[in-house]
Amino acid sequence: MALDERSSDSFIQLAQRSTEIQRQRMTAFPDNKRFAFSIFDDTDLSTVENVGPVYKLLDEIGIRTTKSVWPLASSSNGRFGGASLQDPDYLKFVLGLKESGFEIALHNVRNMCSTREQVQAGLEEFRRLLGFYPRVHANHSHNRENIYWGPARFSRIARLYRAMTMFRRLSFEGHIQESKYFWGDLCRAHFDYVRNFVFREINLNRVNPTMPYHDPERPFVNAWFSSSDGHDVQAFCELLREVNQDRLEEEQGVCIVYTHFACGFVSMGAVHPRVDFLLRRLARKDGWFTPVSTLLDFLRKRPLVKVISITERSALERRWLSDRLVDVVFRGIRKPSPHVEPATRRRHL
Ligand SMILES: [Zn+2]
Repeated sequence: MALDERSSDSFIQLAQRSTEIQRQRMTAFPDNKRFAFSIFDDTDLSTVENVGPVYKLLDEIGIRTTKSVWPLASSSNGRFGGASLQDPDYLKFVLGLKESGFEIALHNVRNMCSTREQVQAGLEEFRRLLGFYPRVHANHSHNRENIYWGPARFSRIARLYRAMTMFRRLSFEGHIQESKYFWGDLCRAHFDYVRNFVFREINLNRVNPTMPYHDPERPFVNAWFSSSDGHDVQAFCELLREVNQDRLEEEQGVCIVYTHFACGFVSMGAVHPRVDFLLRRLARKDGWFTPVSTLLDFLRKRPLVKVISITERSALERRWLSDRLVDVVFRGIRKPSPHVEPATRRRHL
């Protein structure tokens, strides 16, 4: 069979499968809610002062989400600072969130590279301070122990990615058994879900209908999930603008926003007015607002394919790459927000 015919066949199969999966997804969520919504808040730069008011708002309007933390003390050598569970006021704040129904997740064990022993210590410290192990993880920045990060994140575009990042000389070894940064077995033992690709799309059913999925080429992760890009206050407001909220509801979609609440959401103790407006508007809709792992547990129970196919994974990689290229163009033309520290514009999506 000619290559062209093969690829058009696989394209048709993928389209049919995707339509079938979307049909299955168009069923009701718990309590017959019309769509599902969550947020994963990356802890970079966070303090009680710069994220506290956002959580107060979320709590007030009944949107329970997922906040990541660092259990070990932050180091001034890390690329991004921010409070950790070793700060008593911050720990008290995080414990309060947990009591109110927010999920607490991991964003590596600290803001800089950690060996296997440090990862192990960090997980135990998390449990000692909060009373349980985290179920959801997202890799942090350039930490060397990041799992399946850098080129290892890709199957089909790995070579292209390597060429695009050849001057960065970064190494990620969380999944490499010979490395002192290896913690893949701990990841598999503790974590149900790890974040992978982030897209410029509010309804993740459109790009990754089989989420959460297992990837046999990356066996130390039990299941991966995708996210919608709301990395700072501007991107968040763009993603959750009125027309997108309405489409999410109409399509009975699924949205997990990946964001950094420390990046411009709070000024002088008050939540950014547009964020306040958009979140209150969303909360009035008939949505299922729930933490990330609860949402993924629900999706996992549906009769969908649990192991991602090569074709779907390739499609995810291509879409991710094209979204990042659009990002580069956007970043060139939009005015940087005065609230956002320049370093966070180089974020890890
Ligand atoms: Zn981070």
